[in-house]
Amino acid sequence: MKIGILGGGQLARMLALAGYPLGLEFIVLCPSTEACAAPVSEHLLAGFDDNEALKQLADKADVITYEFENVPAEAVEFLSQHNTVYPPPLALATGRDRLKEKTLFNKLGINTASFADITDLPSLQQAVNKIGLPAILKTRTEGYDGKGQFVLRSPQDIEPAWQSLNGVTAILEGFVNFEREVSIIAVRSCTGEMAFYPLSENVHRGGILRLSNSLANDPMQSKAETYATQLLEHLDYVGVLAIEFFQKDNELLVNEYAPRVHNSGHWTIEGAHTSQFENHLRAILGLPLGSTALNSNAAMINLIGEIPESADILKYPDTHLHLYGKSPREGRKVGHITLLDNDKDSLLERVKLLS
Ligand code: AMP
Repeated sequence: MKIGILGGGQLARMLALAGYPLGLEFIVLCPSTEACAAPVSEHLLAGFDDNEALKQLADKADVITYEFENVPAEAVEFLSQHNTVYPPPLALATGRDRLKEKTLFNKLGINTASFADITDLPSLQQAVNKIGLPAILKTRTEGYDGKGQFVLRSPQDIEPAWQSLNGVTAILEGFVNFEREVSIIAVRSCTGEMAFYPLSENVHRGGILRLSNSLANDPMQSKAETYATQLLEHLDYVGVLAIEFFQKDNELLVNEYAPRVHNSGHWTIEGAHTSQFENHLRAILGLPLGSTALNSNAAMINLIGEIPESADILKYPDTHLHLYGKSPREGRKVGHITLLDNDKDSLLERVKLLS
């Protein structure tokens, strides 16, 4: 069986690494000559708008998936005419547009921060009057890791924020004074079987995920699973999906979902019985899902911009290093560390030491 992947970054690399023990092969389509999945797959070096390369991917693979959501809708449409694409294109189209995404959650009865559609300066001014300040202006599409976002703190920020968008459509979101951020990694197979990982508690700085912990028995687990079930079923979803939440006063407000394996689930490689990567592959192939139970409390630290000496990390017990084969650059995710510990306090101590 050969799995085709749109995108050839670290998520594609970790999917391939999880798939080899199952006897799977991989082919990735990625426009970068430095695609870090290339050493573990066949690499089609082409743009996502190259129909000849897309056709080649469709012909060579048994099923197609993707590792990031900013793939042009036309590419997914083209592929789905020639092969099976999971997760379903509707999940991608909704998830990559913040307005459609938040509207869907509200329709499902799941709370989000208050938001408004922004198409011009007057609509931004009206939205600020309604939502209040501080608020965050976010581009509707193409934003990730805090890119395309502007915090508005005073009325003087309104016009410069609008100018900086360069005319692209956006949403304004009320600023949530959350107690913590959590995410759930959920998986649904093409047979309809579902499973949920224990919640990850996430710390972002500058819009980029720095740290995820997964500790046993999170009090918000069952609420998050209920919301995830609603979304998976509504989208007739197949594969792994992550939902990011803000927690405030024992309530979960959805921030966004990602229709793919997710950075806040990297700890599952060593921290869970079956990793998110293996379960994504099982789901799209219709294989029975593996257990999502914790092996022990787990934490994941992203390595951003710098690659440490391996020995400086590996000298600690139950500590695992993943390097993605990328050259370091400011703000670039080049790897991650996973720490395991049955004792929650000692896990958090070790996280402090290494982050
Ligand atoms: P996003 O790109 O929407 O995932 O945002 C990246 C990070 O910015 C989030 O994980 C939060 O830490 C922060 N953030 C985004 N939206 C809000 C909001 N409405 N209120 C407070 N913080 C936010």
